[in-house]
Amino acid sequence: MTAPMPAAGTAILHKAASGERLSAPEIEALYHLPLPEVAAVAHELRLARTRPDVVTFLIDRNINYTNICNVGCNFCAFYRTRRQPDSYTLTYEQISAKITELEAAGGTRILLQGGVNPALGLEYYTGLLRHIKARHPGIRIDAFSPEEVLFMERAFGLTLDDVLSTLIEAGLDGLPGAGGEILEDEVRQRAAPARIRSEDWFRIIDAAQRRGLYTISTMVIGFGETYAQRTRHLVQLREQQDRANALYGGNGFSGFAMWTLQTEHTRLHGKAPGASAHEYLQQLAIARIALDNVPNIQASWPGQGFKVAQASLYYGANDLGSTMMEENVVSAAGGHGRHKATVRELIRIAVDAGFTPAIRNSRFGIIEWPDVAAYLGRSEANPEAERAVGAAG
Ligand code: SF4
Repeated sequence: MTAPMPAAGTAILHKAASGERLSAPEIEALYHLPLPEVAAVAHELRLARTRPDVVTFLIDRNINYTNICNVGCNFCAFYRTRRQPDSYTLTYEQISAKITELEAAGGTRILLQGGVNPALGLEYYTGLLRHIKARHPGIRIDAFSPEEVLFMERAFGLTLDDVLSTLIEAGLDGLPGAGGEILEDEVRQRAAPARIRSEDWFRIIDAAQRRGLYTISTMVIGFGETYAQRTRHLVQLREQQDRANALYGGNGFSGFAMWTLQTEHTRLHGKAPGASAHEYLQQLAIARIALDNVPNIQASWPGQGFKVAQASLYYGANDLGSTMMEENVVSAAGGHGRHKATVRELIRIAVDAGFTPAIRNSRFGIIEWPDVAAYLGRSEANPEAERAVGAAG
């Protein structure tokens, strides 16, 4: 039998459900409350803050332009040293061929990220962005993590503003917020001594938001971090979002994505606890409650698999992320062995959970209502969803 919830817990959940902002101690207290009660509030807030009947996703492609990296994070199974036989750096033509496949699938953006490859000069990056914009003018380029931008600052002797101006001028549309993990340096130091520090992560994200670039907030749990550290991570993201909303015309994080640490083939294997599906769902629900100024919360199918991702839609998530076409980083360290999701699979997840699927752009604007019946076969489609698609379209 579940123990009755303490009165203080009930008060915190009531406060959250009414839309009031929780303090850091109140957020931390959520980790000790029964998950069904926390999830119910998270779902209520999701319904209130986003279109309640709709689950969105993006048709995109991940492209990892190089796997050579000199940061050497202990949790990374993706990177290689320059001398390893399976290290690579893609040519512009190879990247272009991948984008052509994305265009054929109806995709609209690429997520272009790599390791920190010291052999690449600034002209590789700017030339690549120009090449993509010239060859694929309809494709949006969200590229480079704060870690790669930090490398460009240091290696090319440029100020942060100069790096961003140069990349934007060459065609950069957005700077994904990868590398957030837990933005507490004690955790980062243990997991990856050379990893970008939280101060630099926020400095670079802040500058990107000030320049009008798309960004997303991220979180990875399972390093053995404490609830207090997870809480501080969320509170710092919320503060950054307040700042961007106040100073940069609302150009804050477009969404929040979270997944669990995968350690297969990494130096952290057997040394970090990782996180169960229960912990993932708990963290997602708490993020929905804590991040009252970030409307879009993603479910993570690469980290959790399709079934838990679908359950996430009742734990605060309103979005299924994207098709990815080739996820290489999380899957290299375990995950569920999935490198991609098809449009049909994501539609199926949304419809079976009782939602209307919608295809979005990277800023979460809806750009298409897919024909559910055509994708799933009319007899399989959820009639409620079909009606909603008809009404919306
Ligand atoms: S996570 Fe990124 S920065 Fe760290 S080793 Fe892997 S590729 Fe390099």
